[in-house]
Amino acid sequence: MTVQTATHSWKVGSVTITSVVENQTEQIPPEFFFPNASAAAVAEHPWLVPDFADAEGRIALRVQAFVVDEPGRRTLIDPCVGNGKTRTLPWFHQQEWPFMERFGDAGFSPDSVDQVVHTHLHADHVGWDTHLVDGVWVPTFARARHLYTERELDHARHDEGRGPADLYVDSVAPIVDAGLADVVDEDADLGGSLRLEPTAGHSPGHVSLWIESEGEAAVVTGDALHHPVQCAEPEWGWLDDLDAAVAFASRRRLLDAVTRRSALLIGTHFPSRPAGRLEVDGDSWRFSPVDA
Ligand SMILES: [Zn+2]
Ligand SMILES: [Zn+2]
Repeated sequence: MTVQTATHSWKVGSVTITSVVENQTEQIPPEFFFPNASAAAVAEHPWLVPDFADAEGRIALRVQAFVVDEPGRRTLIDPCVGNGKTRTLPWFHQQEWPFMERFGDAGFSPDSVDQVVHTHLHADHVGWDTHLVDGVWVPTFARARHLYTERELDHARHDEGRGPADLYVDSVAPIVDAGLADVVDEDADLGGSLRLEPTAGHSPGHVSLWIESEGEAAVVTGDALHHPVQCAEPEWGWLDDLDAAVAFASRRRLLDAVTRRSALLIGTHFPSRPAGRLEVDGDSWRFSPVDA
């Protein structure tokens, strides 16, 4: 099977948003990550096939970062798992992905990044912030301000359970030590076309990112949603959402806001065709991908 890793871009007013893919995994039993799901229930939404699920109801998920180009500013959102990181999840552990090669092929250089936005501090959203040089983790985007919310930093700093797989030590502390970290409010206006929206639940200080330009709008979900099936089944929460009820409320509120504004919904873990519009379908939605 060909793993879909092509780079895609979308326009929102004068802003260009580009997906750079680290990895995509196909044929995942949905109940593996969504405890309330089943393959049969996924298969009841045939619009998910073939981009987001197969005919048997097995889902695909992707790890990708988004580059947001405004006039005069480049922002990177959620730089994936990274290479060579010690992680408890085997599919994140000691990987060697050609992510930075794809990033370069898309026309980006590490030094061209002005800021890095983190929707939250899980291992698949901070990895490329650092890379190993002579056994030391050093910042990859050495010119960029790296934005964090206080509750996420606190949670990452005090999560003692990770042992050697401590993402704070290998992916956050080197940024703080280099003086490249900024703490921002969960509803911060980042200037230009960018604004954070609090979408807690999956993690304590989780945020999504609104992009608003020339009357058009898009939102990058982070892990407020993981898969397009949650547009149809918003009550399906992720395996390790910190607070499932709060996560459900955040997800529903975000889907409502996207519908009201006819915004482009861009899913951080949505596979193959990660940007699209919502169509109201009874008391939930279907996700209709947009290719450019
Ligand atoms: Zn997460
Ligand atoms: Zn994630």
